[in-house]
This record gives sequence, C-alpha cells and structure tokens, in this order.
Amino acid sequence: VNELKTKAAAQLKSAKDKEHPPPPPNNVTEPPSADRREGAVYQVGKMLGKGGFAICYEGKLAGMSKRFALKIVKSQMPAKMEQKFQTELQIHSKMRQKNIVQFHRAFTFESCTYLVLELCPNGSLMDMVKRRKGLTEPEVRFYSIQIAGAIKYMHAKGIIHRDLKMGNIFLDKYMNAKIGDFGLAALLLTGKDMQIMRRTTLCGTPNYIAPEILEKGKKGHDHMVDIWSLGIIVFAMLTSKPPFQSSTTDEIYRRARDRDYEWPSPETSQKYISQEAKDLVATMLQDADKRPDPDTIVEHSFFTSGYLPIASDISSKLRESPPQ
Ligand code: ADP
Repeated sequence: VNELKTKAAAQLKSAKDKEHPPPPPNNVTEPPSADRREGAVYQVGKMLGKGGFAICYEGKLAGMSKRFALKIVKSQMPAKMEQKFQTELQIHSKMRQKNIVQFHRAFTFESCTYLVLELCPNGSLMDMVKRRKGLTEPEVRFYSIQIAGAIKYMHAKGIIHRDLKMGNIFLDKYMNAKIGDFGLAALLLTGKDMQIMRRTTLCGTPNYIAPEILEKGKKGHDHMVDIWSLGIIVFAMLTSKPPFQSSTTDEIYRRARDRDYEWPSPETSQKYISQEAKDLVATMLQDADKRPDPDTIVEHSFFTSGYLPIASDISSKLRESPPQ
C-alpha cells in the first residue's frame, strides 16, 4: 500500500511540475512597450517559492539596485487556471495600497508571462506565525490594523479578495504585511454598476432574479467573507492555529457553521489571551450581516486597550526567530 502511495505522490508531483514553468534564464528580456520603448533586461536571482502554478524568483533591472519579485507562469495554461490568472492580473494591477503587494508590470518572454511585483523578502505571515508559535497581542494589533486597512481599500474599490489567509500575506523588508495573490478575487457590483444592472435586467423577466438584486438600496453582504477570514487570521496569529482545524473538510465546515472553536487554556498553553481579543474575533465570526466593517474593527477595545507597536519595533523583533 505504501509503495502505491509513494508512486501516486510521485505522479502527482510530476503532474504539478508540468504546470510550473521551467526555471528562467539568468537574464530575462522585457519586450519594448508604449511606456518602455527600449524594453528592459531583468537579472534573475534566487527562487522565492512555488505556488499552485506560478514560480517566483527575485529579479532586478540590469544596472539598478531595486529588487523585485518575478512571478512566472506558462503562457499556455489549462483553461481553468487561465481564467484565474486573468482575473488576478486584471484586479491586482488596479490595486495601489501600502499593505497590498504592489503590481509593477507584466510581460511575456519565451512562452511565459512575467509579473513584476514588489519584493517581500521575509516570507509569508503563516511561516512567521508558525515559527514564533503565535504572536504577542501588540504584534497582532499591528498586523490586524494593516490587513483591515487593505480590506477597506479593496472593498471601497468594489473588490472582494475571497482567499485571505496567512499564506497569501507576505512580509516586506520592514516586516509590514502585504496582501498578495488575487487569484480568487472578484468584482463586487455596487452603487452605479448595480443601478445599471438593475435597469438592464429589469427589461427582461424578473422571474429568475434573486431578491437582493431587485431590492433597491439593499446592499449585499458578499464582501463580508473577507471579514470572516480576518477573524480566522486574528485567531491564528494569537494561537498559531486556525480555529476550526480538523482532519476532514466536512468537519471544518461543520465546526465553522456551529462556531465550534476553543481558545487555548492558559494552564496548558501558558498563553494569556485577553477578553478584548476573544471578543474581537467573535464579532468577526458572526453572520455576514452582523460582521463589523474595517473602520468599526479598528475602533474595537482590543486596539485601544493595549500597546500598539510602530513599524520599527516590529521589524527588529520579528525578523529572526526567537531564542529557543
Ligand atoms: P500561486 O498564485 O500559484 O499560488 P503565489 O502567489 O502563492 O502563487 O506565489 C508562490 C510563492 O512565491 C509564494 O508562496 C511565495 O513564497 C512566493 N511569492 C509570491 N509573491 C511574492 C512576493 N511579492 N515577494 C516574495 N515572494 C513571493
């Protein structure tokens, strides 16, 4: 049985490798374009990581010192991935906020698409939280405010991220959080778009139209999925584990539906978690229409009841792993 399992795992790995692009050459040429008539040459540095279908390398323009992340995917992808990548490109390229990985440009070279992104050289929030076995409450305040700010920005632009998790939040050289990977993001219809849609759909038969589309002035709660995710992220930053972790996905769904989670007990974990922190998480894990928006979140007593570090405090303390 074990042999079969190993074989299956190897097959899966080779199938996955087929989706990934081959390692890039040492120099990658960006073809001339309207805003860069001469084109450009990127010198490729070390590999940063592999995702579902992308591979990421460090890179810099020849003769310049600023370093970037080059996210590389094959230009020819299976249809489903192509769709995911197109949304990612379209949405990410329109974002500009200090806690979102900055998108610089995209180009094609040797059958691969290159995204030139802001470099986050300190890995993901997930790796850091695991390494540290949970953060202190001041550190959690620092990151929660940064992530809430990015969510506020996305929602104001009509974007729902839909896949916020610690593994998709990267750390820049100062240890600031930057949301990356917009592969599952979606455009939310709000305000004017919604009016136009209502006007056009109402020309036809309304038999098939959900009431929330027809009800004027009633806002959908779709964007609140990101607030739920922030609730999970805050719990995980404090305890180093997501609240509903289970061995099967069915069980995770069941526990999430029943809000079946427990805070670690101070006796067994030697970890004190304040009532304010627990209350904040509980508000974000309510039903969608009751979840607080980002402005309300940062006014919660968790943020006002204790120390809020500034970036330089965080940077010097978190970069290295703590003494064992
Ligand atoms: P996918 O969309 O295929 O899941 P990701 O966006 O997760 O790919 O990127 C794959 C890996 O590349 C990440 O896990 C991370 O290690 C690294 N990475 C992605 N973006 C950056 C970045 N801006 N700076 C540094 N490393 C990054």
